[in-house]
Amino acid sequence: MKTLLHMQDLTKEYGKEKAVDSLTFSLLKNTSTALIGPNGAGKTTTLSMLAGLLKQSAGTIVFDGEITEDIQKVIGFLPQYPKFYSWLTALEFTEMAAKLSGVDAKIAKQEAEKTLEFVGLGDAKNKKTGTFSGGMKQRLGLAQAIVHKPSLLLLDEPVSALDPIGRREIMNLLKELQTTTTILYSTHILNDAEEMTDQLVFLRKGKLVEQGSMQEVREKYANPMYKIYFISTEEAAKFVEISPWPARQEDSIAFIHIEEEKPVMNEVLHVLAESHLSLLKVERATASLEEIFLQVVNNGE
Ligand code: ATP
Repeated sequence: MKTLLHMQDLTKEYGKEKAVDSLTFSLLKNTSTALIGPNGAGKTTTLSMLAGLLKQSAGTIVFDGEITEDIQKVIGFLPQYPKFYSWLTALEFTEMAAKLSGVDAKIAKQEAEKTLEFVGLGDAKNKKTGTFSGGMKQRLGLAQAIVHKPSLLLLDEPVSALDPIGRREIMNLLKELQTTTTILYSTHILNDAEEMTDQLVFLRKGKLVEQGSMQEVREKYANPMYKIYFISTEEAAKFVEISPWPARQEDSIAFIHIEEEKPVMNEVLHVLAESHLSLLKVERATASLEEIFLQVVNNGE
């Protein structure tokens, strides 16, 4: 697959602090990548440098094979807090964005209408943006970012402010766009990345700490375990004391880590039966996406 963009040792310093620290990764054409990290990890700074809004302190950005200083015309950018002029209608706003991004003035209105239809704002195109709900604003933000058909779409936290339905709708739109566009979006919620994303890039304090597909990351951090639910915290504590395998406890649940499928469930059940402790249930579980996120971004802390 062809590389659309490669960044090499991309760095942004603010005084002594490095907001982004020697970041190196590539975006393959027509794939989507999630930039994942907690607040302050450097996601916005990275996207701003790629969008050409912020100059890097060091490192290079190679776009489609060429080092470029000005990639604004071929990228679309949705900032974390986009500004909409409340007195403009959605159509006027999107048409203006189209012209600013280099769309021929003669077809800008037509392209704006098509794009608003695509993001589900066809019926609201003549309404003033000041009347829009959060979800509508997010769609409008997406519309202004894609109206000029960019080959690279950069989105800063496109779904973080939305409710679960709004999130799903925006992610579905991104999935559709992905067939013709390369997408890089940031999020601090790993669950949001799940469905459509080809590559995950985890940032912590400006550094890349993990990279891979969702499946690769899940396999590496899934941590299979038995979760043993007891009737009380005391019962769980007693089990941790007598367990032949290393076990830990959280409230009334005891955990046994499974490595290479050992111990097998039968052995665990046998020990439990012998213990006569008051048991509620036993299950085999793997780390949730939220737990995986915490493991990855806290690694090395
Ligand atoms: P969030 O999820 O909160 O938006 P983020 O991952 O996008 O976080 P950035 O906004 O890129 O993180 O910030 C990375 C680091 O750089 C933070 O420590 C931040 O305080 C610092 N930083 C960002 N912009 C500036 C600036 N203009 N001057 C000084 N420090 C800055």
